[in-house]
Amino acid sequence: MPLKRYETKLLPVNEQSLRLAEALLRGGELVGLPTETVYGLGADALNEQAVPKIYAAKGRPQDNPLIVHIYESGQLQDLAARVPDRAQRLIERFWPGPLTLILPKHDRVPDCVTAGLPTVAVRCPSHEGARALLRSGVVIAAPSANLSGRPSPTTAQHVWHDLAGRIPLILDGGPCQVGLESTVVDVSRDRAVLLRPGGVTREMLQEALGEEVALGKGVMEPLAETDKPLSPGLKHTHYKPKARVLLFLGEGQALRAGLSAAFDRAAAEGQSPVLLCQDGLAKDLAPRASLSLGTDEQQMAARLFAALREADELGHDLVLLQGVSQQGVGLAVMNRALRAAGFEVRRC
Ligand code: AMP
Ligand code: MG
Repeated sequence: MPLKRYETKLLPVNEQSLRLAEALLRGGELVGLPTETVYGLGADALNEQAVPKIYAAKGRPQDNPLIVHIYESGQLQDLAARVPDRAQRLIERFWPGPLTLILPKHDRVPDCVTAGLPTVAVRCPSHEGARALLRSGVVIAAPSANLSGRPSPTTAQHVWHDLAGRIPLILDGGPCQVGLESTVVDVSRDRAVLLRPGGVTREMLQEALGEEVALGKGVMEPLAETDKPLSPGLKHTHYKPKARVLLFLGEGQALRAGLSAAFDRAAAEGQSPVLLCQDGLAKDLAPRASLSLGTDEQQMAARLFAALREADELGHDLVLLQGVSQQGVGLAVMNRALRAAGFEVRRC
């Protein structure tokens, strides 16, 4: 199917643009929309003509299911066959917010949303712009609004860069606060399994449930060809800029030495390297080119994808990325960093 071309509109979120967005969604078209995690590419989740357009616009593999966004948990009646106790506890604690639950699917949810799986991913976002649109009652299937494989968009301009001409409307709700995609937890079985770390951390989930939350196989290490992934997204390439990315693990002087040696070697070979690291480290390694990831893991999360995109825009062909500990939101940062680097890691 050839891609339809659009004169894409980029509009701030207001009453008028929200009315247009709702009309487009109800008419089976796609809308780029802000959430607190990353920008989403939304379609009416119950419209089987609309949902396939998401896969076409992004170039997304057909076997990678979508997350359904809702306004309030009452709407689960029509989306989930049942809501297990564990899910209920997490909903009370973390919704609205950056947490996606994998639940047994209701018959009403089209197979094109779940890629044929017996489960459905559902989330209730907290971003005011997303909520204003969801308040109309339309349930929105939305993956991240980037071309498949590329870093997720954390500003409306990133969405424009990837999808202008491919969709009719992008709503601009400012930069995303969390900056990484939602935490995904499978609560459809007899134990909770973390399939994607995010702003709601593993520690927060464990505290809310009063039990261990297992880390899914393939979340923090590459899957073997023969492994069947718990979440289809785990086997696809993700978050990659055009530049090669190397992820550096270590601390203090060893890390500084490893990064500076790699930078200087690449520069001597005629490459154009850039450091992506926290401000203290960038200062120590000055005047080498760097892009700031802020001063802590929370800021790294919010800035990582934008910095990967900026490295490409500035023409760098090698990104030397600082790794962090896997505590708290650090687990989510490292999950994205490992994938951006295609699991190319240097231990210092
Ligand atoms: P994205 O919206 O681009 O951030 O991707 C959504 C993520 O949720 C992907 O990694 C999917 O594989 C995952 N996902 C969606 N539905 C399911 C499901 N039913 N079971 C497991 N993972 C899912
Ligand atoms: Mg995505």
